Amino acid sequence: MAADSKPISYSIVIPVFNEEAVLPVLLRRLDLLLTRLSGPAEAIFVDDGSSDSSPVVLQALAKRDPRFRYIGLSRNFGHQVAITAGMDATQGEAIIVMDADLQDPPEIVEQLIAKWQEGYDVVYARRLSRAGESRFKRATAHLFYRMLGSMSSVGIPADVGDFRLIDRKVLDALRQMPEQDRFVRGMIAWLGFRQTEVTFHRLERAAGETKYPLFKMVRLAMNAALGFSDAPLRLAIWCGLVVSGLALLYGGWVLALWMSNDSHLVAGWSSTIVIVSLLCGMNMLMTGIVGLYVGRIHGEVKRRPLYVVQKRLGFERDLAAPAH
Ligand code: UDP
Ligand code: MG
Repeated sequence: MAADSKPISYSIVIPVFNEEAVLPVLLRRLDLLLTRLSGPAEAIFVDDGSSDSSPVVLQALAKRDPRFRYIGLSRNFGHQVAITAGMDATQGEAIIVMDADLQDPPEIVEQLIAKWQEGYDVVYARRLSRAGESRFKRATAHLFYRMLGSMSSVGIPADVGDFRLIDRKVLDALRQMPEQDRFVRGMIAWLGFRQTEVTFHRLERAAGETKYPLFKMVRLAMNAALGFSDAPLRLAIWCGLVVSGLALLYGGWVLALWMSNDSHLVAGWSSTIVIVSLLCGMNMLMTGIVGLYVGRIHGEVKRRPLYVVQKRLGFERDLAAPAH
């Protein structure tokens, strides 16, 4: 330990959920990658409640080889929480998150690191194409990123998963965001700092099946939409305004009909229609207003920091200055 107790430069976080089929090839490729990297590196596997042999293999590896570490979660908490657990345990100056299935090619990691060395704090890997994924998955992913982009108030890059590198100072800021329903790529976009991208062609899964069934994808999309956009809330208030406005217009028209003593009118119809449509509009408007307050509560309970400081200058001088 003493000989190689240099501080760790790179930490690679890999969430693992029932990935025994892909582990042999992953470990080989990782080993190659770690030896190629320019500084001391660690690889942290987070076992997200696997029920296959992945934990056994990874634990044995962590005991045998000091570059590998293992964290076993007590059950399946989901991909986003797993990568959070892994990032929390890192020691490196640059933290890289990648999937276990080699869809995020380890070779790209070196390109991420090169950009980091140029001075960027966040380097994300953007997919130019996605091989071996169903038309449905590609289409929904495409739609998801476009919709999120137009709804969200922070610029969340399109076609970017969690495959990225972040500087330690970004991680320190990220750890001040204790929100429960996590959409990590959005949270990192929210944080800002100097961000850039590297592009790659996403490969097919090296082995095994996707661990993201439809319901997990829907949950991720919901977390993204609810955590990073208040467009749905604003929708309620706009609907309320439009319906109320239309109800007023319609009510006016019905009233005019009634006053013109149109003989086609059924007795009592005009008043009923006017009351019902007005109440409907009011109702929706009120729901929208309640929604705005709920939105504020939602903002508060996320407990995000108010701001994130990237740099401070000149404060040390103040401290060092004499009292008078
Ligand atoms: N994963 C996880 N917990 C889950 C689902 C997935 O840790 O509940 C891991 C999985 O082992 C993989 C990564 O998250 O390393 C991405 O999952 P997958 O490749 O199945 O997703 P896809 O590429 O199909 O979107
Ligand atoms: Mg995958």
